[in-house]
Amino acid sequence: MISRPIVALVLACLSALPLGAQKPLTPDQAEARAIFQELIEINSSWKGGSTTPVARAIANRFLAAGFPAADIRVIGPDGDKDSSVIVRMAGASKTAKPILLIAHIDVVEALRSDWSLDPYKLTEKDGFFYGRGTSDIKDGATTLAAALLRMKRNHIVPGRTLILALTAGEEGGGGYNAMDWLLTNHRDLIDAAFALNVDSGDPLIKNGKPFLRALQTSEKVYQSFAFEVTDKGGHSSLPTPENAIARLADAIGRVARFHFPVRLTETTRAYFERSAALEAGQTAGDMRAIAKNARDSASAARLSTSPFYNAQLRTTCVPTMIEGGHAPNALPQKARAVVNCRILPGETPTQVQAELIRVVSDDSVHVTPVDDGARHTDESPLSPEILVPLEKVTRQFWPGVPVIPQMETGATDGAYLRAAGIPTYGVSGVFLDIDDIRAHGRDERILVRSFYDGVEYIYALVREFSQAR
Ligand SMILES: [Zn+2]
Repeated sequence: MISRPIVALVLACLSALPLGAQKPLTPDQAEARAIFQELIEINSSWKGGSTTPVARAIANRFLAAGFPAADIRVIGPDGDKDSSVIVRMAGASKTAKPILLIAHIDVVEALRSDWSLDPYKLTEKDGFFYGRGTSDIKDGATTLAAALLRMKRNHIVPGRTLILALTAGEEGGGGYNAMDWLLTNHRDLIDAAFALNVDSGDPLIKNGKPFLRALQTSEKVYQSFAFEVTDKGGHSSLPTPENAIARLADAIGRVARFHFPVRLTETTRAYFERSAALEAGQTAGDMRAIAKNARDSASAARLSTSPFYNAQLRTTCVPTMIEGGHAPNALPQKARAVVNCRILPGETPTQVQAELIRVVSDDSVHVTPVDDGARHTDESPLSPEILVPLEKVTRQFWPGVPVIPQMETGATDGAYLRAAGIPTYGVSGVFLDIDDIRAHGRDERILVRSFYDGVEYIYALVREFSQAR
């Protein structure tokens, strides 16, 4: 942590330095930067890259730091292109279950021609680090690896065993997810009381100031449904009421006008309750009201005009694709649409399917699940075991910045762990600017200062969590 007086002192020193000179890095910062650079400069995208050299680079650093070789595993299904690395740091407690620390080490492909800089070079420029994975999530992988290496160097034995798992296949493309694979084939390597995931739960900056520290406890479940209508067809000069496109359009219209009921979970209730303090006026009032009473329909209606709040309040289903017919002068024999749903934790895809069928209320429209990707997971509890250390360390680093529980509308590896019974908490240490999110996009970047803050914060956080309780 850097206190205000030290910041002032550093600024005073900096202004006395010749133009262009920079504050020298501490040895801990230099190590973190070296790891970060090494990870960014290995292309680990599915197409044209591989996570295995990343996994090996991390393994080598832990070997060099004196971790026993038996506690370091580079592992994957074919042992080749898409390996992950798992490091076990033995804790003093013989009874407390380990804590799992996770980040993925694959990245979304980046094309040199799309970027203004080389995406697979770490470039430091104008106070930013640029490169593919700087914000998703090689920064997070670096903070975790650096924390464990630094503990070892400082002869700190964690109270409970820490397991670092830096894994492949999170971004998709290869049809293989390493977390899923590990849980199925090597659960013993990563089994833990709970997991901390730096790939979600971002602390956020707005207008240059830290304003919240998210704690991700849950994710909506992704499930698509196909809506299909078939008909015998015929000549378009002889229309019938059974027209497949018209029936499908009616069904889709009913779904589009339907709103799933508002339902708050422990997380979303706490989210609205705590976010109210960051808002003003009607929105703040509506957040407080809905947190107290989920049936407050006036507050729900006003909040629902924001797509973001709407997605927090309810399961959503929305048409995303449509096709049908085969000739301009023929009655359609088939019409098909895809409806994509994001389901609240605690509800099942089967329940949602039944509700969609009820809303459509037309037997000629067949509603079936498209893929079986849905993992039905409950949210991870907001227990004191998690909240107390998190709020303590957050207060030390960023006084006044609230911890806001969060249900994510997208998906991370946390879903696999939660489905397997390991509660998982998203707690990234690297601040993102809410108006400058570039994950998966061009010229991905993070603030240099946020990176080094994250390195310190995650070190403190891992130490605090690792104390046996
Ligand atoms: Zn990610």
